[in-house]
Amino acid sequence: MPRPVEALVHPAALAHNLGRARAAAPDARVWAVVKADAYGHRIELAYAGLRGADGFALLDLAEAERVRALGWRGPILLLEGVFEPRDLELCSRLQLWHMVHSAEQIDWLAAHKTQQPHRVFLKINTGMNRLGFTPGSCRSAWARLAALPQVDEISFATHFSDADGERGIAHQLEAFEAATRDLPGERSVANSAAILRHGARGDWVRAGILCYGSAPDYPAHDIRHWDLRPAMTLRSRLIAVQSLQAGDSVGYGSRYRAAGAQRIGIVACGYADGYPRHAGTGTPVLVDGVRTTTVGRVSMDMIAVDLTPVPHAASGSEVTLWGRGPQGSVLAIDEVAHAAGTVGYELMCAVAPRVPLRAEG
Ligand SMILES: *Cc1c(COP(=O)(O)O)cnc(C)c1O
Repeated sequence: MPRPVEALVHPAALAHNLGRARAAAPDARVWAVVKADAYGHRIELAYAGLRGADGFALLDLAEAERVRALGWRGPILLLEGVFEPRDLELCSRLQLWHMVHSAEQIDWLAAHKTQQPHRVFLKINTGMNRLGFTPGSCRSAWARLAALPQVDEISFATHFSDADGERGIAHQLEAFEAATRDLPGERSVANSAAILRHGARGDWVRAGILCYGSAPDYPAHDIRHWDLRPAMTLRSRLIAVQSLQAGDSVGYGSRYRAAGAQRIGIVACGYADGYPRHAGTGTPVLVDGVRTTTVGRVSMDMIAVDLTPVPHAASGSEVTLWGRGPQGSVLAIDEVAHAAGTVGYELMCAVAPRVPLRAEG
C-alpha cells in the first residue's frame, strides 16, 4: 500500500469559484490565472474546472504550451511578457498575448519577424514598483508600439499592491486612469482581492487565488464570506496512536508536553510533503472530519495531532490537512496558512512532488 498522503483537485469547486468572479465582475471577461502550474493544482487537472474562463493568464511559456495542448484555442496572456527575443516566435506560433513592461521588450518586438501581428498589454507601474512603465513614460511606449507592424491591438494593465488591505486601490487606479486617459484599448487591473473587495473594473479581470478557494484577504474575510470552495484537499491517515501521561513530550525538541493523560495520533504527512514546518502546536486539522489541532513540531514525514475531541479515532482514521473532509466538513487552507505565518497561496503552490495529485469531484 502506498503511503496514504494524497492531494485531490476539485474541478467542480474551481468552476464554482470562477462563477464567483463572474458574478462579482459581470461586465468583464475573466482570465483564470494558472501560473505556478495552476497554483499547485496542475494545469491538466484544473483545466476541466476552469475552461469556462475567457482566457488563461500565466508566466511560463512551457505552461502556455500545455494549455494549448489541452485544446484551448482562446486567449492566453503571458503576465510577465517574454524573457528573451526568441520567445516571440512561440508567441507568434501559439498566438499568445503578452505583457510589455519594458523598453527592451519593445526593441525585441520591433526586430521580430512575423506574419501574425501580436496582441499586447502595456503594463503601467502605478505604485507596485515591480514591472511596468511609469505613468509619465506610458504614452511614448504606447506610441512606439502603435507604430510597429508586429503589433495589432494594444491594451493596458496594472497591478495593485494593496487590494487586500487597508490602503486599497484608489490611488493606483487614479494614476492608471490619468496615464491612459484618451488612449484607445482594453483595460485589465483587478486581481482576486480587487474583484471581491472593490468591485469589477476594466474589460478583463485576473482571477487567481479566488479560483482555488482561498480568501485573498483572510483573516479579514474567509471563504464562507466570499462563498468560495476549496479546490484542493491535502489528506492522509493516522498511522499510529500514542497514549501520553502527564509530562510526556511529543516530537523533536519536546515542544509539546501533555498536561494529563491524552491520546495523540501520528499522521503520515510532514514538511517534505509540503505541510508548513512553521505550523506550531494548535494548528487546525480534521480527524475523521472532527476539528482538532496539531501538537509539537512538524517533522519531515509526520505530524502529531490531539485526539481528545475524537475519542473513536484509531490508526487508519482519515486526516484532512486542508480542504474537504468527510461528512461535508471543510478546513480552509487559509486557517492552516495563518497558523504557520503564511498565506494560502504559498501552501497550495508548495505541495511536494512526492504527493500524488488527482482530480476528484
Ligand atoms: C498572480 C497575478 C494575478 C492573480 O492574483 P491573485 O491575487 O491570485 O488573484 C493577477 N495579476 C498578475 C499580474 C499576477 O501576477
